[in-house]
Amino acid sequence: MNQRAFADGQPLTRARDWIANARHLFVLTGAGISAESGVPTFRDAQTGLWARYDPMQLATPEAFARDPGLVWRWYSHRRERVAQVEPNAAHFALAALQKHRRMTLVTQNVDGLHARAGSAGVIELHGNLFADRWQHGCGRCASQVVMPVAEGEPPQCKLCGARLRPAVVWFGESLPEADLRVAQKAAADADVCLVVGTSGMVYPAAALPSIAAEHGARVIIVNPERSDLDHDADIVLYRKAAECLPLLLANPFEAAAS
Ligand code: NAD
Repeated sequence: MNQRAFADGQPLTRARDWIANARHLFVLTGAGISAESGVPTFRDAQTGLWARYDPMQLATPEAFARDPGLVWRWYSHRRERVAQVEPNAAHFALAALQKHRRMTLVTQNVDGLHARAGSAGVIELHGNLFADRWQHGCGRCASQVVMPVAEGEPPQCKLCGARLRPAVVWFGESLPEADLRVAQKAAADADVCLVVGTSGMVYPAAALPSIAAEHGARVIIVNPERSDLDHDADIVLYRKAAECLPLLLANPFEAAAS
């Protein structure tokens, strides 16, 4: 970590000034930004029926191949859960900032909460929980050609047997190339990079802050815990996202004028 950043001024005030004066702000968010909305991170224990399963084992192509029904039902459970939660103050603060600042918002989250808070053009690197796609389809798979399946099993194409699956990127799968390229280019162009609620353990998304740092951006991290990305940061704010972002993203000049 760049200790110079702590030498003068309060870290929060300094970080706020950097963001307020940024030419291009690059933001990377992870599961932690949605934790205060009630969406558990993968590192939190699961509850109820799903408590005995490890999410890292369920969110894989191997798990779907082994037991498609189990994975499909787990995603149905997650969809129901996420449909009941609301964006929190951190999502709203980012959406408000976008109105008067050049900003690229990249998320690893699949919960759609940034868009629900009003953010436009969000790059969802790991897909969206509420969309489906055909796995290895024949090109003619469609909802009209679905064969009957047992309750709780994923729909199957009558023509080729392909199964419908959640349109998310599972562990071990590649990210959508075009989205990743846009995100990498934006990280390289940014002069300030804000990283919120990610453990920095899932690549290639976790490499984006170091791309920004290598190209001269100042890196600010918001996370109550230490993360693998701390060594790239100029300032680490060990705080929760929903409490920290409204303070961090308030424009000091506007605040002074009002
Ligand atoms: P992660 O579970 O690896 O790490 C979450 C991070 O958030 C941790 O470092 C934790 O300290 C931090 N955190 C916890 N509470 C926080 C808070 N209130 N404010 C700020 N930070 C907080 O998540 P990840 O790094 O995003 O990567 C794991 C993968 O899990 C990603 O691929 C992601 O798609 C997927 N995932 C997404 C969701 C979602 O869409 N909400 C939820 C769970 C997992």
